[in-house]
Amino acid sequence: MKIAIIGAGITGLSAAYDLAKVGHHVTMFESASKPGGLAAGFKSARWEWHLEHFYHHWFETDDDILGLIKEIGVRDKVFFPQPTTSMYINGQIYPLDSPLRAILFPKLSLIPKLRFGLAGLYLRLTEDWRALEKVTAHEWLTRMMGQTAYQTLWEPLLVGKFGDYYKEVNMAWFWARIHKRSQRLGYFEGGFQAFIDALTETVRAYQVRLHFNTNITAIEPQANGQLQIRTHADDTQIFDQILATVSPDLLSQLVPTLPTNYLASLKRLESMGAVVLTLALQQSLTSRHYWINIPKKEGFPFLALVEHTNYVNSRYYDNDHIVYCGDYLKPNHEYFSLSKDELLARFLPSLSRINPNFSPTWIKESWLYRAKYAQPIPLINHSANIPPLQTPLPGLYWASMSQVYPWDRGTNYAVEIGRRVARLMK
Ligand SMILES: Cc1cc2nc3c(=O)[nH]c(=O)nc-3n(C[C@H](O)[C@H](O)[C@H](O)COP(=O)(O)OP(=O)(O)OC[C@H]3O[C@@H](n4cnc5c(N)ncnc54)[C@H](O)[C@@H]3O)c2cc1C
Repeated sequence: MKIAIIGAGITGLSAAYDLAKVGHHVTMFESASKPGGLAAGFKSARWEWHLEHFYHHWFETDDDILGLIKEIGVRDKVFFPQPTTSMYINGQIYPLDSPLRAILFPKLSLIPKLRFGLAGLYLRLTEDWRALEKVTAHEWLTRMMGQTAYQTLWEPLLVGKFGDYYKEVNMAWFWARIHKRSQRLGYFEGGFQAFIDALTETVRAYQVRLHFNTNITAIEPQANGQLQIRTHADDTQIFDQILATVSPDLLSQLVPTLPTNYLASLKRLESMGAVVLTLALQQSLTSRHYWINIPKKEGFPFLALVEHTNYVNSRYYDNDHIVYCGDYLKPNHEYFSLSKDELLARFLPSLSRINPNFSPTWIKESWLYRAKYAQPIPLINHSANIPPLQTPLPGLYWASMSQVYPWDRGTNYAVEIGRRVARLMK
């Protein structure tokens, strides 16, 4: 079959790999100038390794992506450091990434700590996420671990990821985070982009054709059952099947002829965007913390501070100390329209709260990356609302972050869903 894939992110590349391996003629169309989508990276001219536009790591339990990495022969390039994940509370930064560190955490008394520990243990052990999707994480966690532990430790994380929606996210999503994640975090030599480039080379070796800087603007059904795609330059090509790996919003724009009830189901899928300002500093900001969650009530203009070079050695980045300041926001938030300089002016004063010696003169370079579709929001009973991978239009398939569930979207699940949709298309 002649198959088109829209999007050369990890979902599209994984599907292309399996489809081309069994002999289909696969053509990929990607609007960006390189593959990788949300997991792609960039490189300062001084650096040896790429850095992700948006902070990225893997977990030891990410079997789908680690399996694919092994299959394409680059497993020796993955390494698993154990960086420190912490929480900022009232001027102090507390490491909080293991049961022992939770026990030693001075901001909670014994009973809330015990309830926190027992609720966590239950989530590690239970497999029944379907019962949990009927209740919000906010209700379940408040009930099971009590207000004190919940408000101190988990509520900030929910607020950070889902903003105004934090009370609506279902408990199955939260279960998935606790149930499966490891303390060690995986990375790829050369950055995630190096893995993406290796996967791209592998699919090219199977004769997959890749067109970059090519924006698809429409998918049009033909009278004979085939599908036509239209590019921004108004070129058209005919295919037997098409896989779109774009957001629900974009899918409905590309194919307005989809049945009304299907379009309505796409519209119901909510998501958050991400804004990440990245700084290359002359010196380390926190010396040992990789990831610092910052509760909204602390009044910072962003919610996560990630010092990448406390995870991956700064020698690969010309000894720069790399700090990401990130936030998840609704796509209409003003951060999506402010310039990098305007965001720098808002963000930089707060860095002295992390390190009083910080000075803007430490900044060697800075970058701003934004994505309006970055984090789907799983509401109550979400499993009933996920559109299937096969759309009602014969030959058209759709695989996106919005269909990854109950697991939190991530490159591991992009591989899983990409390979799952490829099995359907064969
Ligand atoms: C802030 C942030 C942090 C993250 N952290 C992690 C992490 O630590 N670990 C992890 O594993 N994952 C993480 N993720 C998630 C991970 O990046 C995604 O789950 C994964 O990359 C999704 O891949 P995808 O191929 O489904 O989608 P995408 O990467 O979005 O790929 C879709 C592709 O389609 C292209 N496209 C869109 N429209 C068109 C069009 N009209 N024509 C042609 N091409 C088009 C896009 O340019 C893009 O390349 C993070 C994401 C964000 C935003």
